[in-house]
Amino acid sequence: MKTILIENAYIAPVAGAEIPSGFIHVEGDRIVALGAGPAPAIPGATRIDGTGCLATPGLVNTHHHLYQWASQGLAQDATLFEWLVALYQVWAAMDAEVVKGAAGAGLGFLALSGCTTSSDHHYVFPKGRGDLFAAEIEAAGELGIRFHPVRGSMDRGKSRGGLPPDVVVEKHEEILAESEKAVDTYHDASFSSKLRVAIGPCSPFSVSAELMVEAAELARAKGVRLHTHLAETLDEEEHLLEQVGMRPVDYMEKLGWLGPDVWFAHAIHLSDADIDAFAQTGTGSAHCPSSNGRLGAGIARVSEMLKRGAIVGLGVDGNASSELTTLSGEMRQAMLFQRARYGPTALTARQALEMATLGGAKNLGRADELGTLEPGKLADIALWRTDGAFASAITDPVAGLVFATRQPPLARLLVGGETIVEDDELRTVAQDALGRAGAEAHRRLLRLAEEQGFTAAKEVHE
Ligand SMILES: [Zn+2]
Repeated sequence: MKTILIENAYIAPVAGAEIPSGFIHVEGDRIVALGAGPAPAIPGATRIDGTGCLATPGLVNTHHHLYQWASQGLAQDATLFEWLVALYQVWAAMDAEVVKGAAGAGLGFLALSGCTTSSDHHYVFPKGRGDLFAAEIEAAGELGIRFHPVRGSMDRGKSRGGLPPDVVVEKHEEILAESEKAVDTYHDASFSSKLRVAIGPCSPFSVSAELMVEAAELARAKGVRLHTHLAETLDEEEHLLEQVGMRPVDYMEKLGWLGPDVWFAHAIHLSDADIDAFAQTGTGSAHCPSSNGRLGAGIARVSEMLKRGAIVGLGVDGNASSELTTLSGEMRQAMLFQRARYGPTALTARQALEMATLGGAKNLGRADELGTLEPGKLADIALWRTDGAFASAITDPVAGLVFATRQPPLARLLVGGETIVEDDELRTVAQDALGRAGAEAHRRLLRLAEEQGFTAAKEVHE
C-alpha cells in the first residue's frame, strides 16, 4: 500500500482545530493520521513538502451541467426562462461527442480549482445522438475525479404546459426505464466509490407531478439520491402557483421530495418555514451564487439557512450560466453575496470553506467519507500555495484562499491519494488537449444546431 506524507503545511481540516504547521499521513486511499509538528519517519513513504501551503479537504461541487461547456457565452442578458427557451433548441442538437468534449474540459477545469468530487445533472437526451450519460462518465473516469452524475429528465413539454419545446422532452416510461438502467449499470455504493448515480427530473416547470413521485419511488427502492432545481426564480413560483396552486417547497413536500436523500439546486426564494422544513427533514441545497447573479435570479438566504441548521453546499452550475466559474471562487462569491445583503458577519471565510467541502459532502450523502481531513476519511486533499510574492502579505491562509479573486496556485490535488493536479497542471490527462476538445465541442454543437435549422450563435446573441 502506498504511503504519502504531506509535511510542514498549514492544515485547515474543517472538522476540529486548524494546525499551523503539521503533517497528513495517507495510506492507500485513506487518511490515517494528521497532527502538529514533523511527520513521522516512515521508510519508503512519498513525502510531499507542504511548506508555504494550506491543506484543505478537496472541494465538492454539488450542481453542474457539464454539457453546457459547449454552449457558453450565449443569451448573455436573459432571465432564466428566456435563457432556457433560447438554449433548449441548441441543446437539442448535442451528441455523445459534444458531451465527452464538454465534460472532459468542464471536469478538468473544476479539478484545477481544487475540486475532488463533482456531481453533474444531465437532463437533455435528444434521440439518436449516442449514449450521452456514458460519455460524461468516461470523461470523469479518465480524469480520476469522484463523480456523481444525476440521470436527469424532462417529460412536460410545451404541449403539456411546460417550458421546454416538445423536441427535448422524453416519455415518462422511457425516463424511468433509463434512470433505472443508469443506476443498475453504473452506481457504486461502496465506501471510496468514485461513481455514484442519482436520479433527477429537471425542474417543476419541465416535469410532471407523476414523474416526480415515481422518480422518488424508484430512487428510494434503489437506495440512490434525488436531485432537482428548486425555487430558482420568482417566475418559477408564479408558474407553480398558476399551475398547481402551491409554492415550490410545499409542492415538493406533497410529492414526497423532502428528506435526507434529497438535495436541491439553488433554493433561493425560501420562506422561514421552507428553511425550517429543509432543516427538519435533512434536505440539502446547492448554492450557486455566480449563476444566480448572472441570471439575476436572486440571492439565496444562505446565512439564515445555516443558522437554522439546513445543509448548504456549493455548486458552479452549468457553464452556460456561469461560464469559467471556479469552485474555489464560489466560496468568495457566496461570502460576498451574504455580506452585501446582510452585513460583514453574515458569512465567514471558514463557513464558506465548510460549505465548499463538508456541506457538499452532506449534499451527496458522503459526510462519513469526504469533506473534512480526519483519520478514516478518504485522502481527497487540496494543497494551495499561499507563500507567493503577493499572497504572503496575508498571514491567515484560509482568508488568503477565500477572500482572493485570484485563486492561489494549486500545488497538489489528491483524490484518494492519487495525484490529479500538480503545480496547476492536470497529471492524469493531457491538459491542453482536454481544453481543445472542450472548444471543439462548442464549435460542433453550434454546427449541429445550425444543421437542424437553428442559427444558434446569431439568435441567442440578439
Ligand atoms: Zn442547474
